Amino acid sequence: MDLGIRGKRALVTAASKGLGRGCAEALAAAGVDLVINARGAEALEATAAALRAAYAVDVVAVAADITTDTGRAEVLVAAGAVDILVTNAGGPPPGMWHDWGREDFIRAIDANMLTPIALMTALMPAMIDKGWGRVVNITSQSVKAPIPQLGLSNAARTGLTGYVAGTSRQVAQYGVTINNLLPGIHATDRAVALDGGVVAARGITLEQAQAERAATIPARRYGTAAEFGAACAFLCSQHAGFIVGQNILLDGGATNATI
Ligand code: NAP
Repeated sequence: MDLGIRGKRALVTAASKGLGRGCAEALAAAGVDLVINARGAEALEATAAALRAAYAVDVVAVAADITTDTGRAEVLVAAGAVDILVTNAGGPPPGMWHDWGREDFIRAIDANMLTPIALMTALMPAMIDKGWGRVVNITSQSVKAPIPQLGLSNAARTGLTGYVAGTSRQVAQYGVTINNLLPGIHATDRAVALDGGVVAARGITLEQAQAERAATIPARRYGTAAEFGAACAFLCSQHAGFIVGQNILLDGGATNATI
């Protein structure tokens, strides 16, 4: 399917690896020029070089922490007026409810709620002026069904979800759509880190931890960054202009709910 977005320009944050990279790659495959970001310059430059070589699109790489004011400012200067924004950042650490104090919540809310809101606030005015824009926020299945050990993530991402529910309905009349993609378990470094916690707690191998987790997913496997990216690129396409304020699960059926 031709996504109809060749020649458009996108900012994808936290995109040197994992789901962010999957989104960047699918957009590049659709002919979209990119600004990509991550903190570590080496992996980021390697991803930028791979995308340029594979898809012959323009890729600008900005090494910065997207959750800080200065990092965001650097990224926004490089991005300029983009047509497409995909927001992403690392997820908060797991733990127990009694582990977390005010500072932990502030960090999580900064990273996974206020950072995407700041990026939308900065970039949507130019989209509105052009009469066309697409925003996709990478959140988590935890906004539909809480993951108990990810209390910081549950809290921060639910706040973002509420913001998107209202704001998406304010900007849709200008041709700008905002939607959220909710990953269930995907085979990325983040999943390895979470499975590593199980390995340490239970003294089993990483392969055993992964097999046990996969067995809880109706699809009986982890998702891939490529599948995730393809869904993201569709939401950014010309065909998705009537999809507004939705929360779309990509979880292999793991969230056991009728709707
Ligand atoms: P990942 O494989 O660990 O990749 C994270 C990417 O984000 C890397 O490129 C990393 O590069 C970059 N990054 C992290 N913190 C950043 C920051 N502060 N500023 C800029 N870049 C940053 O993670 P993932 O699995 O793709 O997860 C992406 C998001 O989806 C996370 O919020 C995660 O919690 C959520 N999620 C993932 C899953 C899953 O199963 N994978 C499930 C539910 C939710 P640097 O480290 O170099 O900055």
